[in-house]
Order: sequence, then C-alpha cells, then structure tokens
Amino acid sequence: MSFTVHGIGVSGGIAIGRAHVLSRAQLEVPYLEIAEAETAAEQARFDNAIGRVRRELSDIASHIPDKAPPEFEAFLNVHLLILADPTLAEAPKALIAAQRCNAEWALKQQLDALLAQFEGIEDPYLRERKTDVMQVAERVLAALLLEAPGAAALTGQGAPADGAILVAHDLSPADVILFKRHRFASFITDVGGVTSHTAIVARSLGIPSIVALHHARDLVTEGETLIVDGDRGVVIVDPDAGVLAEYRLRREQWDLERQKLRRLKTTRAAALDGTRVELHANIELPDDVSEARDNGAAGVGLFRTEFLYLNRRDLPGEDEQYEAYRRVVTAMDGLPVTIRTFDLGADKALPGERASSTNPALGLRAIRLCLSEPLMFSSQLRAILRAAAHGPVRLLVPMLSSVHELDQTLHLVEEARRSLDRDGIAHDGTVPVGGMIEVPAAALSLGAFLKRLDFVSIGTNDLIQYTLAIDRTDDEVAHLYDPLHPAVLALVAGVIQGASRAGKPVAVCGEMAGDTALTRLLLGFGLRQFSMHPANLLSVKQAVLRTDLGLATQVARRMLRVQDPERLRALLERLNAG
Ligand code: PEP
Ligand code: MG
Repeated sequence: MSFTVHGIGVSGGIAIGRAHVLSRAQLEVPYLEIAEAETAAEQARFDNAIGRVRRELSDIASHIPDKAPPEFEAFLNVHLLILADPTLAEAPKALIAAQRCNAEWALKQQLDALLAQFEGIEDPYLRERKTDVMQVAERVLAALLLEAPGAAALTGQGAPADGAILVAHDLSPADVILFKRHRFASFITDVGGVTSHTAIVARSLGIPSIVALHHARDLVTEGETLIVDGDRGVVIVDPDAGVLAEYRLRREQWDLERQKLRRLKTTRAAALDGTRVELHANIELPDDVSEARDNGAAGVGLFRTEFLYLNRRDLPGEDEQYEAYRRVVTAMDGLPVTIRTFDLGADKALPGERASSTNPALGLRAIRLCLSEPLMFSSQLRAILRAAAHGPVRLLVPMLSSVHELDQTLHLVEEARRSLDRDGIAHDGTVPVGGMIEVPAAALSLGAFLKRLDFVSIGTNDLIQYTLAIDRTDDEVAHLYDPLHPAVLALVAGVIQGASRAGKPVAVCGEMAGDTALTRLLLGFGLRQFSMHPANLLSVKQAVLRTDLGLATQVARRMLRVQDPERLRALLERLNAG
C-alpha cells in the first residue's frame, strides 16, 4: 500500500530506488581504518573476544538450571561449534589484514557473507541455523565493543546495491562520511536538523536527502520502492505506476536543469553591474577537490579537516596531515585553500571518544578542545604551514568566543613557525590567519578580533544555533531554526560591514552561503565572498549573475530595519522576484 512520509529536505533532487533499512544493531558496528602495524594487535583483540565468548558459553553450559528445556544444552553446543568454526573464528582475521579494518567491521563483513550463503539453502532446518550464526556473531561483537567501544558507523546488510536508498533512525557525521565510498541514491533519517553536520555531508554528496521523518525506519521495509523528493521533504513509499511515471519525468527535468547550469562553470561570477563575487567551495575530504574544480570554484573557502579523521581511533601525525593538505593545495593549482583547524567535539566526537559533556555544543569543542590539547594542535599547525609551501593557504580558526583564545592560538602559530625554522623544514611563514565568526560574542565584539586577524569567515550554522539557542542537530526544534530571524540578520550584516570597513576580507561559509534564496540578500549586505558545497556553486552563480546590486542593497537595508517575520519574508520575496 502506498503512503507518504513528511520530513525536512536537506538536499534537493529526486531519487527513486529500493530501500536499504539499517537496524540499530547495525549502526553500532564501528568502521575504523587501522595502520598496518596495528594488524596483529587487532587480530589478537579478535581472538580475545572469541575466547571470552567461549568461556561465557562454557560457563552457561556448566550451570544449566534443572528446569531448563532438554534442547537447551544441545543449543549451547551448537553455538560452541559455530564459534569454533574457522569461517567465524579465523576468516575475520584475514579480513582485518586484507582490508586494514577493525575487528568489528571484519566480523560484520564475514557475517554478511555467511548469511548470504544461508539464503541459498533449501533445507528449512539448516536455513534456521542462520539465526544461531547471527546470535553467536552478536555475542562476539558485544565482547569486542565491551573492550573498545567505538564510534557508530555504517555497515551494510550485504553490499547494498548501487542506487539504494538508505533508511536509518539516525546517522552521525562519521557514518555519512563513509557514504562517500558507497553509491547510495539518497538517504533518509528519522531524526536530525537541516544544518547538522550529517545533513551538511549529505548535501556534499549531492544526493537528495531528508531528515526528521520520525518513523520512516519503522514504516519502511527492506527492498521496498521509495521516491525521495529532497526539495519538498517528502518520501513516497511503494508508489503506484502513475506516481512513479510523474516522478521519473520530474527527475529528468531536474537533471536537465543541472546540465544547463554546467554551462556556467567558466563564466565569471559577477553581478549585473560587473561587480566581482568570489564563489569558493566547502570540502570535507581531499577527494572533494575534484567536485569543487568541476563546479568552477575560485578556491576552497572551508576545508573541514576534522572529517578526515573521524573514522579512526587516533588523530593522525603531522606528516599524514601534511600529506592530506598538500594534496588539496596541489590539486587546487594556485587557487587559495582555507584550511580550518580541527572542529572536533559536539556532534563530531574526538576519535575513539564519545561526546561526554552535558551540553556538547557548549562544551569542549573546536578551538577550546585544540587549546586544551596543545601538542595535537601544534602538529596540525605545523602540517598546515608546511602545506602552504605548495600554494596559497589560509589558516582558519573555528568557534572563537574570546580574544584570549585567539591570542593563545596566534602564539601557537608563531611557535609552530619557529619550530619549523629550527628544524629546517620548508613552510610558508606568511600564512594569513583568519577566524570563524560563529559565536554571537565574537560577532558583537568584532573589533578586537579584527585587530588580530587577517580575515574572517562567518559560520552561520553555528551563529544561528547560538543566537537562537536552537540545537542544530535537534529535529524537535528545527522549525525554530531561522536564518531570517532579525537577530541573525543583524549579526551577519554587522560582521560583513564591520570587516569591510576595517579592510579585512570577509566570507560566509555556513549553509546560508549556498542557499539561492539568500544570495541577493547577502550581496545586499555587502558580501563578496561565499563558500558553499560544490553542488550549490553553479546555482548560486546563476543568482549572482541575475542580481541588481543597487536594488539588493536597498532592500537589504530595509530588511535590517524590519522586525516582523511576515514582513521580512515578503521583502525577501520581492528581492528575489525577477
Ligand atoms: C558554520 O558553523 O556555519 C560552519 C561553517 O562550520 P560547521 O558547519 O562545520 O560547524
Ligand atoms: Mg561551525
């Protein structure tokens, strides 16, 4: 029976495909990349877990209560036999070595392969043993997680087919970053907010996605046909032939529009009067650079470095970081690259840890965390300065709220420079240092920051979260998350104008920069540098090309004097008409 579910669209477009439903248990399996040198230790960890389960089962077998049914002992023996079978006890160790992955992941891969074999068995008794294999594997998994709890990560139930639609209760940013290795057509979740990092990564994948569907995971069954309309935030489950045909047509139209936009790739971004506007790309992984270049980005305006390091136990050393940044700088071929220092904490937990503070978004996050771990921070600073020897790099500091943090950071940058000099390692000593303005305190005391910084970048995602006291990851308050709130507009315009007056470059790199409904408004506030997901670049360029700057400035100024939400929306509509 066909029905629709409504949520919040976080990435536009239409996907039609079969559902791949993730269970909660599957989400608890972490994927972590391990170094070659860690292989033996990981295999030993797996052996320990097998040993622990063997002892558990033997212990249960020796304490069977008198009232237990007679088949109970046989059942335990079957489990012990399964546990001893090399397909479960040995094969995952080969996978650990071959795939350089953690034991949990290897076990899950092997389990998937075993379960797939059961599907082909006709004998109903033997087919039933599938449940036993699953139960034993789950015990081993529990033993592993007990020893080393890891980040929640995606694992597929068998390899999902290309073009499948992923249906989950919740996904962490670390889970979604793994999607870059799969080819899902879309993903939909029960919870989540529009500017959560999960949604941001979804947008960067360029696939339609919807969050806050509330019960989709329970309502949708594996393999069911789904239509995901990312623009309207609607999922149609098991659509009839007529609806399918209509959406196939709409998907073609959408693809056609995207193709037309591609013609703008090399067009200079300028308003109608010829004023130049710089459109940069936000990236999460070095591989994203190709998409940035394909969409004609004038630079990387925000490299969220922490994403590189989410699905692993440790932070990388200086050389590994340097190599990743150098790849991006070289691939951008002379175009500027803005590297943001780790913004870990809150919904992006430090590798190997779970967010522990009571209020993670207000806790030890971003620059606060970096300053509390000066060794870790210094190795990143050195890596960035070294990468700058290969092309124009700018260093961006997240979540500044007080100038003390900035002074400490600048001191550490200077230290990093000096230590590289001392070590005789090539680097660029003139890397500009900028700050993210994403805490209202920084926006309201901008002058003190501008004195010390070379440039600023407005992180509207957090600025809105902290101004309106709305958790950006919480779908229950998502309807209150409003970029058009007069307080938000005043802060954004104030920072753009304050920085411009001080002669310091200013960009917006939050999701507002990639929203075509806000392009003219931001231009009207005086913004000339935008940074957004590569997928949004060409549509924003189209909006820039059609902007009458004089009119935009006039309406934007009016909007700053208006407090009434309805009136603000009406003015924005007028600004965007024509
Ligand atoms: C922001 O807060 O707007 C921003 C760009 O940073 P992030 O989304 O990574 O927190
Ligand atoms: Mg931010």
